[in-house]
Amino acid sequence: MAEDPLKAVLHYARALKAPRIRDSAARLADQARDGGWSHEEYLAAVLSREVAAREASGAAIRIRSAGFPTRKSLEDFNFDHQPALNRDMIAHLGTSAFLAKASNVVLLGPPGTGKTHLAIGLAIKAAQAGHRVAFATAVDWVARLKTAHHAGRLPAELAKLRRIGLLVVDEVGYIPFEQDAANLFFQLVSSRYEHASLILTSNLPFARWGDVFGDQVVAAAMIDRIVHHAEVLTLKGSSYRLKDTGIDTLPSARADNTAQ
Ligand code: ADP
Ligand code: MG
Repeated sequence: MAEDPLKAVLHYARALKAPRIRDSAARLADQARDGGWSHEEYLAAVLSREVAAREASGAAIRIRSAGFPTRKSLEDFNFDHQPALNRDMIAHLGTSAFLAKASNVVLLGPPGTGKTHLAIGLAIKAAQAGHRVAFATAVDWVARLKTAHHAGRLPAELAKLRRIGLLVVDEVGYIPFEQDAANLFFQLVSSRYEHASLILTSNLPFARWGDVFGDQVVAAAMIDRIVHHAEVLTLKGSSYRLKDTGIDTLPSARADNTAQ
């Protein structure tokens, strides 16, 4: 044993690149002596500081690299505005258990009802639970796949994306896809089926996804794979963005047929 054990601890902490061990070793040693902790309790307390800090910085990195357009949290979601939404289900999805089963989440509903908010909130929970996550609109995902396809590396791109536990695909249906874009999107869904999770948001009910993808057969095959293991949540009501404006409805292309 070195002459000054604390000095030795600081030396080893530096060698391990574990600055929180360095910062907490002496302070916790005093607490341990005062509190009569066992050696094991002291060691666990010191290591837990390092692990907690690493987990927090890992989560921060995963959240920063996810490509969120804005930060939203489940805690900030006002469930009173969505009385039909199952809070327990959202809380359960917030545990990220669905990622382990490679299940999906589909959020349907009219504009401004909180689909993107919930998608980001759930993805942030997943990042905090240790999963890699990535967010983009459906149009942006397709553009990314198109680039890979043209470079002859679509399979490699899909394999790379499969290593990300959760992809958020926002705004399916805002813009209809061309045939080749629809096929690329189908490949994304198939490649993740039973391997990795998706959160999809759409302002259109599944019945109208055929119009989006320009092909009822492709749309049906895709929806089949998405919903086989999925929670489908339908948000309702008027736009939260308009809630204090006195405007209570937005124009809808086919009011009787939007997801509501
Ligand atoms: P959508 O994606 O369904 O069009 P958003 O999730 O973008 O809607 O919501 C629009 C805005 O209203 C966002 O700023 C969002 O944070 C907020 N918002 C929507 N619903 C709620 C809610 N129930 N509680 C708190 N904020 C909400
Ligand atoms: Mg949105």
